[in-house]
Amino acid sequence: MYNLSVAMTTIHLPELKIDALYRRFDAPMVDCDCGLMCAPHNPSGKPFCCDICHAVPAAYQQEWDYLQPRTNLWHVWRGDECPGEKENPEELRGETPQHMLLLACLGPAHCQRQFRAVGCRQFPFFPYIASDYRFLGLAYEWAFEDTCWVISNLGRVSAEYRAEFLGVYEDLFARWQADLDSYYLQSEQMRIQFSAMNRRIPLLHRNGGFYLVSPNSERMRRVAPERLPRFGPYTT
Ligand code: SF4
Ligand code: SF4
Repeated sequence: MYNLSVAMTTIHLPELKIDALYRRFDAPMVDCDCGLMCAPHNPSGKPFCCDICHAVPAAYQQEWDYLQPRTNLWHVWRGDECPGEKENPEELRGETPQHMLLLACLGPAHCQRQFRAVGCRQFPFFPYIASDYRFLGLAYEWAFEDTCWVISNLGRVSAEYRAEFLGVYEDLFARWQADLDSYYLQSEQMRIQFSAMNRRIPLLHRNGGFYLVSPNSERMRRVAPERLPRFGPYTT
């Protein structure tokens, strides 16, 4: 199991207008229902990112304040939601930024799209922050390379979705250093992991292009999206 966030220590919660944030982060990620592409490869038959046995969504504390009175879709993750598995919630919570909390939903058969958390809307991506703190674009949750169809089809990600993603996080980072710091750490972890694997990091750059980034020098090489790697059952 893998959480969708990283560790942080500082708590500062700026006021967020969650309904407005959800409205401006609603564009389809790709031109098809990607859940239909990945679910057949999951024994549970669920899209991987909506299967609590594979992903525990993280939400901002302010989102939880907004969601609680409006929907029964979510509850705070207990660690016993995956049938036959018992997780230690403290362990995963310890790896989660303090300004976020881990949630579980009713499952994809009962999804209420208007109440999807930011974690649902951004998946499989996170804001990629260079070592000099520049927000360069979208990188992906590398633990899902073999399961998420989108990661193997980055060229299908819509320009509208990319623009919304950049706009939402630019605004959040302008007001919330802790959120920027958490993604800086996640980006740094990715550089360390990809350096150890001797691999370059695929990046959906904010300029609209696709790049491979050296995790050591951080030099970037522009590539055609069809040249980006594909994984697992999505290689053909
Ligand atoms: S984002 Fe990835 S894991 Fe989630 S439904 Fe789409 S293809 Fe599946
Ligand atoms: S709220 Fe919807 S999109 Fe988010 S994890 Fe649950 S089923 Fe998936």
